[in-house]
Amino acid sequence: MDRQPVSTTDYQDYQRYQDYQDGNALAGPLSEIFTVDVTSASGECVTCGLVGPVASLRLYHRAPGLVARCPSCDEVVLRLVRTPRGTWLDLRGMVFLRLPRTE
Ligand SMILES: [Zn+2]
Repeated sequence: MDRQPVSTTDYQDYQRYQDYQDGNALAGPLSEIFTVDVTSASGECVTCGLVGPVASLRLYHRAPGLVARCPSCDEVVLRLVRTPRGTWLDLRGMVFLRLPRTE
């Protein structure tokens, strides 16, 4: 059987799918912005409608910032980038973020 050469793109895709942490790893970075533990919050994915805890997101940390992807459709749900001038939080991949009440 002939083996097909593995293209660089295929290998990069493979690495991308293997190289992530679960959303619990967002607890530290997001604690700089929110006073509650956001990993216990729930959100809805804009693309596929999956509702689930932030802790269930797939977190990729080898980007210029942190990139969290939906575990169902793999679209970007959240981006967090820290620069010398500030912290940028992009939630455009999320319909809502429901934070638990603390009282
Ligand atoms: Zn999704």
